[in-house]
Amino acid sequence: MADQAFSRLDNYLQQYMNGGSQPQPSNGQFDTWSPTSWQSKPIKQVVKYEDQTAADTALKQLSKLPPIVTPTEVWKLRQSLRDAALGKSFLLQGGDCAELFSYCAEDPIDAKLKLLLQMSLVLIWGSNKPVIRIGRIAGQYAKPRSSPTEIVDGKEIPSFRGDILNGYDPEHRKVDPERLVSAYFHSATTMNYIRAQLASGIADLHNPMDWGLGHVGDKELQAKYTTIVNSISDSLRFMRTIGADTSGQLQTVDLYSSHEGLVLEYETALTRRLKHPAGHPGAQTSTDGKGWYNTSAHFIWIGDRTRQIEGGHVEYFRGIENPIGIKVGPSMKNDELIELLDIVNPRKDVGKVTLITRYGADKVESMLGGHIEAVKSSGHIVVWQCDPMHGNTRSTSTGIKTRSFSNIFSELSSALKIHKQHGSFLGGMHLELTGDAVTECTGGSQGLDDEDLSLNYTTYCDPRLNEKQALELAFLVAGHYRE
Ligand code: PEP
Ligand code: MN
Repeated sequence: MADQAFSRLDNYLQQYMNGGSQPQPSNGQFDTWSPTSWQSKPIKQVVKYEDQTAADTALKQLSKLPPIVTPTEVWKLRQSLRDAALGKSFLLQGGDCAELFSYCAEDPIDAKLKLLLQMSLVLIWGSNKPVIRIGRIAGQYAKPRSSPTEIVDGKEIPSFRGDILNGYDPEHRKVDPERLVSAYFHSATTMNYIRAQLASGIADLHNPMDWGLGHVGDKELQAKYTTIVNSISDSLRFMRTIGADTSGQLQTVDLYSSHEGLVLEYETALTRRLKHPAGHPGAQTSTDGKGWYNTSAHFIWIGDRTRQIEGGHVEYFRGIENPIGIKVGPSMKNDELIELLDIVNPRKDVGKVTLITRYGADKVESMLGGHIEAVKSSGHIVVWQCDPMHGNTRSTSTGIKTRSFSNIFSELSSALKIHKQHGSFLGGMHLELTGDAVTECTGGSQGLDDEDLSLNYTTYCDPRLNEKQALELAFLVAGHYRE
């Protein structure tokens, strides 16, 4: 049934999007790629739609809707990530573990924008490099699960797979294909509000900012953070005074969208054959000047559970123009990593791939160095990004899923150190965070401990850093650079 739906989807794609075969057979792989070629591969985390007709209808509708992002934006991000891969800029990526449709609202979006902006200013101050901002936002609706079912109130029910497929409420755990379309509209609405807010000056550095450092009890730390904030404010004031802002760059910033590319039928329906922007090498060299763009987000990544060399996800990812991420957990072998890079980036384009390492504070020492050396000898130049969240999840004695701030910072600072030892550098960090005052991770200057977690524990998946913890992490990383 699923095969039928997909072959029909393939037809829609051909029909509506001017489809054709990939015109880049330079390495012999691309001639077999199409937006649906992944269907002939084994697929992890596969979705079974009970109502196949409804799934067909939803995918058909998606395939006709306009792009959420454009090739020009995607290409701009790729160029920026090239800089990050070469050590000339730093990538800050962050947002919810599981973004809910209900987060598509003014306050949570504003809070996340403000937090990412403040963190990026701190990181610019620390690293002396431009910072690229990518939100886990406007589409982070799909979650891979270790088990297809879970026990709730003594009853076995399907696991929550993210708002794009089913609802968290036990009554809504059946996969509902209409959610695929709903995901598109929530994603587009979120992106629309982000674009409107940025254009209207939410990130205007002419405006003073509230840094809210009152919670930092430790006097020494409070003084240190205040010094950083003052230094940032002074620099901005100086630039405004001398009229350095002739290009209007203090008025707004770029913020790109990203999510895990997990539900491939959704990603395929939004994959379009579009004209390359000027400056893209394919604009002149490919026969029709076009390429396949995933228009659901600027950047998508492959999760640690779906990165099998022979699998459907890797097959899909190798054909798109967007910059992509690959999660790299402790089970990744050195040669497997290189094989993956060769498949998804045969031309070895600099910064096309971001390796998002997430080993855990206790494993980073034994894993990262080997991966750095293997990649170095392969000739690939990637963005090395540390995700200090996913290898550091623990359960409290009462069974609450949490992460300790100290472990998170420990993995980050180890990554910074190990890269340095290997003549490499950390190109970015990937965090689960929210602009809200949640209590999901322990530690940080607020001194949250296991007993405090129930105060405001609202995540529907993994524990996130709250606004204060996330900002503090940025201060600590910045301090590391300045040492
Ligand atoms: C995630 O980023 O939320 C996630 C599931 O990560 P990973 O694939 O690294 O486990
Ligand atoms: Mn997560």
